Amino acid sequence: MTEANPTPERRAGLSTRCVHAGDVRDPQGAIHTPLYGHSTFAFDSTADLLDVVEGRAEGNLYTRYGLNPTIRSLEHKLADLEDAQAALAFGSGMAAEAATFLSHTKTGEHIVCLGDVYGGTFELLGENLPQLGIDTTFLTAGEVDQVPSVLTDRTRIVFFETPTNPTLDVFDIVTISQHAHAVGALVVVDNTFATPVNQNPLHHGADLVIHSATKYLGGHSDLTAGAVAGPAELLTPIATWRKNLGQVIAPEIASLLARSIRTLVVRVRAQNVAATAVAEFLNDHPRVTGVNHPSLATGDQAAIIKTQMRGHGGMLSFLVDGDAAATAAVVDRLRVFSIAASLGGAESLVTQPITTTHHGLDPAERARRGIADSLVRLSVGLEDAEDLIADLAQALNAA
Ligand code: PLP
Repeated sequence: MTEANPTPERRAGLSTRCVHAGDVRDPQGAIHTPLYGHSTFAFDSTADLLDVVEGRAEGNLYTRYGLNPTIRSLEHKLADLEDAQAALAFGSGMAAEAATFLSHTKTGEHIVCLGDVYGGTFELLGENLPQLGIDTTFLTAGEVDQVPSVLTDRTRIVFFETPTNPTLDVFDIVTISQHAHAVGALVVVDNTFATPVNQNPLHHGADLVIHSATKYLGGHSDLTAGAVAGPAELLTPIATWRKNLGQVIAPEIASLLARSIRTLVVRVRAQNVAATAVAEFLNDHPRVTGVNHPSLATGDQAAIIKTQMRGHGGMLSFLVDGDAAATAAVVDRLRVFSIAASLGGAESLVTQPITTTHHGLDPAERARRGIADSLVRLSVGLEDAEDLIADLAQALNAA
């Protein structure tokens, strides 16, 4: 098989790379990398097998190792999108996070986690890893200036999402990376919300990028997958954990994910535009007391966004002027938005974070993080923005 390379003389643009990067033409001429669901691959000789086993040649060996043509093709595409040397694909975003933390920290070492992160990440860092003697210091978005004082010579990883879930705070990747690197810690950024269309954390000093590919990369709410991208040297130990924990993506899902990534740029750019229109509508609505979307940011946040983001994203959240029950009533009146916990699909979703993503968090901790009972999070899909705005208007305007 040969790798497709439509513009060999110069680096292709992001849309072209989403369509073609990593794709190989097989002898049948299939237009994309075929789906190889096979668990194992045969060799012409023991010498050829040893070349792959001992790392002298790239090749296919055993699917749980990730050495499968469909998975390797997807990983080339993922690496290309994040301008990384390499990437690893996983069965979920949590699998990618867990393998990254386990391979780059050990008992007695320390992680720093900034801002609001996905609830599962809170649980992994706050409850699972302490059982292995790996502890995490959590700082809220408002405490980010304390980063230098919580870093120690035991700190191995500084982890954060930007923009964050669900308050859409942004962090300055350049400055945080400078602090982390000064003590020899790695910076790991979860780029799920921004996507490689709107932000490439590795360009700003991050060492590794993580995705829940279940979200925008998959884009249709019909697959679960994860990815880590970065320098090969940092990915090698992660690949060992992935192999031995059996966390690799299934080839069938890898093929589906590569299919989805081919339309990533048009989807995300449309979602950027629609979410900005929805944010502006909500910002002017009398029953809405606050809107969180990067397009509305001011001051330092606006300056960071200008430096490191190319688009504002399809995620936003807003505060309803009412209690938890009144807010739930607004959510329940929505007809175009579906009540669901995920994000990043073609269909618009709504969730009240206290009932889903942040349900498990102690109410005092939620309050400290600005996750109010009246906060509503939207994942803006690919419907017409006018229909989304009309739906929000009827839900908010009802008595
Ligand atoms: N990171 C973010 C920002 C998420 O929203 C999620 C899931 O909602 C995850 C990671 C975990 O990904 P997955 O559900 O694919 O394991």
